[in-house]
Amino acid sequence: MSDIRPHSLPAAKTRRLSDLAADVMSLIKRRRDGATVARMRAELEAKESVIREQTAALAHSRKIFDRSSAAARIGVWECSLPDETLQWTDVVYDIFDLPRGSPLDRSQIVRYYSEDSVKELHMRRSKAIEERSGFSMDAEIITAKGIRRWMRLTATVECEEDVPVRIFGMKQDITEQKILLDRTRYMADFDLMTGLANRSQFQSKLSMLCESHAERNRSGALLLVDLDGFKKVNDTLGHAVGDECLKEIANRLKEVCRDAEVVARIGGDEFAVFLGSHFDRGATANFAREIVEALSKPIDHCGQSLKLGASVGVALVDACTPSELFKKADIALYAAKAAGRNTFQIFESSHAGAAGKNALSPLI
Ligand code: GH3
Ligand code: MG
Repeated sequence: MSDIRPHSLPAAKTRRLSDLAADVMSLIKRRRDGATVARMRAELEAKESVIREQTAALAHSRKIFDRSSAAARIGVWECSLPDETLQWTDVVYDIFDLPRGSPLDRSQIVRYYSEDSVKELHMRRSKAIEERSGFSMDAEIITAKGIRRWMRLTATVECEEDVPVRIFGMKQDITEQKILLDRTRYMADFDLMTGLANRSQFQSKLSMLCESHAERNRSGALLLVDLDGFKKVNDTLGHAVGDECLKEIANRLKEVCRDAEVVARIGGDEFAVFLGSHFDRGATANFAREIVEALSKPIDHCGQSLKLGASVGVALVDACTPSELFKKADIALYAAKAAGRNTFQIFESSHAGAAGKNALSPLI
């Protein structure tokens, strides 16, 4: 068969040429492979760098989350359903004073809740699971170390194909806020020195009681109590001793007025008592007498016997406004002072022309 190649070459030469071509191809391929590898390596490095950045960003976010979570005392919890397996972040362990990462058994954990809080928790949790919703509540716990804490708990139920599979949320230690709030509320309503209701609580209760007594046409009485010659205690023995006397007087009033609806300190040495409808005129008079007797008993101060006394003005509830009732009791108090002190007077219309002890600074 004739050689049909355009340039007829000897076979050996042709082989060499084809080897050369193969070598060149292989070289090109190797170069191409090398370039591909270099490109891939560069891409890989770029991806690694992105992963490194993302890992660093994640670690940073985690650090920020952990720090803020610890600072705000907020932890995350999760409970799978229906097996009730619990998982907590560190802060939740800290709130319960349990070692971080220790095994959790929900039936044991609920024992740290106070009786009222565990009842509320069961009720809200069951409702949220049933309705596939969530809830938020403040719960009181006694921790593993026996410390009383308040915790704000939020919960959300997660479903898969409408079946609740998980309940999760946050737990925040709100003990400090709770103490502050309770104290603020207490200060708004109570007299810090004696623990009796303060003037502001007395005013709102008096309005409420007068309203409800008027609606049901019920009786009752307002008694204003003012110590006699109290300034002298301050002047002779000092303000601190005066304060001790006021505390003792308040304790005696609390004791005598166990059946009263309100007992309040409404001014320096002035107290108010509201009696409910089971006190008729006779019972009210007996009650006023008991107060006078109780407050006239000597007060022991460092072995010294201090003699104080009190005057009481009484106004029986009738169809009048709280401010009219207060004014009547005040006029009766003034009448008791005028009658020689250490006694009581029930308001009579004959007193009406007189000005009360508080005439220049009406309470209501
Ligand atoms: P009266 O017999 O007319 O009631 O006179 P009084 O000496 O009892 O004095 P009055 O009721 O007019 O005034 C009450 C005094 O109580 C005035 C003030 O010096 C004193 N006082 C008011 N608040 C306090 C307090 O918180 N602590 C003490 N220690 N004294 C107070
Ligand atoms: Mg007085």
